[in-house]
Amino acid sequence: MPSWVNPEKCDGCKALERTACEYICPNDLMVLDREAMKAYNREPDMCWECYSCVKMCPQQAIECRGYLDYSPLGGSVIPLRGTDAIMWTVKYRNGKVLRFKFPIRTTPEGSIQPFEGFPEPNLDGLNTQLLAGEPDILDGPLPEVKLKQ
Ligand code: SF4
Ligand code: SF4
Repeated sequence: MPSWVNPEKCDGCKALERTACEYICPNDLMVLDREAMKAYNREPDMCWECYSCVKMCPQQAIECRGYLDYSPLGGSVIPLRGTDAIMWTVKYRNGKVLRFKFPIRTTPEGSIQPFEGFPEPNLDGLNTQLLAGEPDILDGPLPEVKLKQ
């Protein structure tokens, strides 16, 4: 089931130029109604329930129904993100509540340099089939693929 925004909790990310949910959605689904200052999922059919917006929202305003194997209908799964872990609260329809803390990183926030060691981008790279940094970034030659005759 796609994500949905609880308008009572959403504060529009305090009118920032771009809201946290708009920033994080890999499918570009979350948008802010600038009059109401409430976000919403503009294309629920396209939502793949990745939970990114749910975990990112600073107001815990976004929910997604949990996957059926651990959260049957009527239950809810709510994350509270910290700097190095997420506290998950799972509420079952019979009233049972479980909480567990899951570590999400081993390095300080902002310390990772994702492009360290990669060459500067070069427009000529658009004309090759290689991915960024290949072949130098690979630890050895590419495996040879043999097609069946
Ligand atoms: S991240 Fe949360 S608080 Fe911010 S606009 Fe989206 S739903 Fe609202
Ligand atoms: S659950 Fe994932 S795909 Fe769906 S709206 Fe949120 S961030 Fe986008």
